[in-house]
Amino acid sequence: MFWLAPPARFRLYTRAADYVHLLLDVLTGRTAAGDDVRQLERAVAARVGAAHAMCVPQARVGIHLAVRHLIRPGQAVVMSPYTIADVVNMVICAGGVPVFADIDPSSTNIAPADVERLIDDRTGAVLVTHLHGIACEVEAIAAICRAKGVPLIEDAAQAFGARVGGRSVGTFGDAGVFSFGMYKNVTAFYGGMVVTPNESLDRAMRSELADAPLMPLGALCAKAVSALVTDLVTAPLLFRTFVYWLFRFAHLHDIRAITRFVTVELDTSRKDRLPASYRCRFRPVQARMVRRQLDRVDANAAERVSYARIYHDGLSGLAGLVTPPFRDDGSCVYNYVPIQCEDREALVRWAMRRYRDMAVQHLKNCAALPAFAPEQRECPNADRTAAGTVLLPNYPGYGEAAVRRNVAVIREYVDAGAPCHERT
Ligand SMILES: *Cc1c(COP(=O)(O)O)cnc(C)c1O
Repeated sequence: MFWLAPPARFRLYTRAADYVHLLLDVLTGRTAAGDDVRQLERAVAARVGAAHAMCVPQARVGIHLAVRHLIRPGQAVVMSPYTIADVVNMVICAGGVPVFADIDPSSTNIAPADVERLIDDRTGAVLVTHLHGIACEVEAIAAICRAKGVPLIEDAAQAFGARVGGRSVGTFGDAGVFSFGMYKNVTAFYGGMVVTPNESLDRAMRSELADAPLMPLGALCAKAVSALVTDLVTAPLLFRTFVYWLFRFAHLHDIRAITRFVTVELDTSRKDRLPASYRCRFRPVQARMVRRQLDRVDANAAERVSYARIYHDGLSGLAGLVTPPFRDDGSCVYNYVPIQCEDREALVRWAMRRYRDMAVQHLKNCAALPAFAPEQRECPNADRTAAGTVLLPNYPGYGEAAVRRNVAVIREYVDAGAPCHERT
């Protein structure tokens, strides 16, 4: 049984030391001690080549602050609909009116031509996303924004470490946002960073959080506990001897009481005001955790790129499959490898039966969500991508053999004519 089971579909980027450090700091009352937040800001600014960097309690708060200070209330923000609903909420809470541009199905990001077409005299900013760690065509979009005098914000929440033409994502426009959330490639359980070349913007954003309370220790510890549980159940020994078999059985027999633990049900409700709990400050203990991880970012990205190459070589061009672009120039760090097919549930089931573990991408097309009916817009590519995306496992340590096995199983599925029903 052990050898038959695959590695888990995802793993966190935490390490045992992170929990030990947090526990020691909590016990000795030092989670808020030290000027590590400032040091981390300097380290990240230097690393990405930004003049200013500011820690935020969550990346979405950084998006909120950047939008708020770059637009006038009521102005339009051209953005991707294929993102978490709260990013759309942050634009709305900041006084912006989301204008959704459809995505390119392969990169899953918005494309320069659509951005250019949607900019008009109501536009206050363009917000691009480098989803899945795949950089969008940010040079072209930045050139359009410059020519039209429209500020550019980059949501690089999933792309810390990616560089386009040698320059870090997040530094092509007026503000760039990284996430250090629990599932990201650099994690502080909660957190993020906004970088900007603009000193007055940096000052304005800082003043908004200057008197905010520190991130509540209870919330931080609760998140750490849930991360620890996740780390334990996805650890190879426990996962391959027990957890996988339980979830495989539950998946194949549709036992919701069990599968719900791995079903991501994102909050897709509308927010018109920034929740009070979002207004808090990053803790020094979190900054120390991020600093310990910075040295590993590039090596981790290189490993993911090597897996993405195998996926690309094995899967690109197969009938009925949309695969992401492959680039090894640093612009794609592939935090995930998203592929799309007609019936993704059938593909995941097929893979489960053949002792693989992969998951569907839970992101929705926000342009079609009831919560954003006033901003509704036809985005057929985002509809198809949201309904058809499967995330192929691609984390450091996953292993080349496991990647090859995934490729083989998906090729068999395509060769079998992508069967949709029961007997998969
Ligand atoms: C995770 C994520 C965010 C939000 O990050 P938080 O730190 O959780 O606020 C925003 N955009 C994208 C694309 C993300 O993946």
